[in-house]
Amino acid sequence: MEIAPYIPGRSTTDDGRKVAKLSSNENPLGSSPRAREAFASAATNLERYPDAGATALREALAAKHGLDPTRIIYGNGSDELLNLVAGAFAGPGDEVIYVNYGFAVYPIATRRTGATPVIAADKDYATDVDAILAAVTDRTTLVFVANPNNPTGTYAPRSEIERLHAGLRDDILLVLDHAYSEYIEGADNDGAMELAARADNVLVTRTFSKMYGLAAERIGWGYGAAPIIEAMHRIRLPFSVTIAGQAAAIAALGDTDFVAHAAAHNAKWRAWFSEEIAKLGNDGLRAIPSQANFVLVVFEGELTAEAAYKGLMDAGYIVRWLPGQGLPHALRITIGTEDETKSVIAALRQLAGA
Ligand code: PMP
Repeated sequence: MEIAPYIPGRSTTDDGRKVAKLSSNENPLGSSPRAREAFASAATNLERYPDAGATALREALAAKHGLDPTRIIYGNGSDELLNLVAGAFAGPGDEVIYVNYGFAVYPIATRRTGATPVIAADKDYATDVDAILAAVTDRTTLVFVANPNNPTGTYAPRSEIERLHAGLRDDILLVLDHAYSEYIEGADNDGAMELAARADNVLVTRTFSKMYGLAAERIGWGYGAAPIIEAMHRIRLPFSVTIAGQAAAIAALGDTDFVAHAAAHNAKWRAWFSEEIAKLGNDGLRAIPSQANFVLVVFEGELTAEAAYKGLMDAGYIVRWLPGQGLPHALRITIGTEDETKSVIAALRQLAGA
């Protein structure tokens, strides 16, 4: 079995200089002051184990989202949950489907179980429900869909996810990875939770790493039917979410002002960034429509993604170039602060010679 490692976004340039780190889809506005306070006050009694059942966190999540707390699972980032669900529902001889340009953890989570990855073709970088359904065989046990997807930022509307679910056998588990769902504009944001509440074969995973700005704390959570959650609990490590992480997450949930501010910031600068890339269309640059906190920029002209990556790095902007994920012709750029967003566009414009 050959597993290519996950390569995290870089945090410094080659010469140690950093103008902006736009490579890991973190929250450029930081985190809620209430979460930081809760984190600091929880950092006592270091000799005690955390609550292995994350009871208060599950109850806070259940109250906020109108969910059954017994059907909530939590983990060391949603990465842990993606690995747990693969471990519980896939093994040698099984097939696991995800889309071309899907999230980089899916191949790792799949291969470590001994299952076979099956890649469904994309449709201009977006999730293609028909391609996923066409890839199903009697060996399929699991389908991963990130929505919005990383690294493409594309979003499949609720009707398409319903169509996908309706087309899958009941014994295939559909994992809806909603790491970026807080960034979706419009009303159909919670369709996945409703689906997970009514269907027996859907798991939704979410995270505090992105909109809530708590990536350092590693807190993810998931919602699904009791047998799915039980199967994942059976193979988990007992104390993977820390005391301070649980406290920070609960406080972050209560700070709706911070989340509203971060959402408005992202929506504004994502739209502006995408429009500015569109203006560089004659130079061969194209922004893939995004509902996340980053935009995939495709390079189809004289300036290559590799040259732009190096040029931006020289100027102190760390972005993501993903040749290992079949995207040697694209850069994924996180929406930063206003200054970072404006200046990375200026740097790109200069590199494009526009
Ligand atoms: N899913 C997707 C699609 C992601 O992009 C990420 C973050 N890179 C994760 C899951 C995992 O995030 P975390 O483990 O921080 O919750």
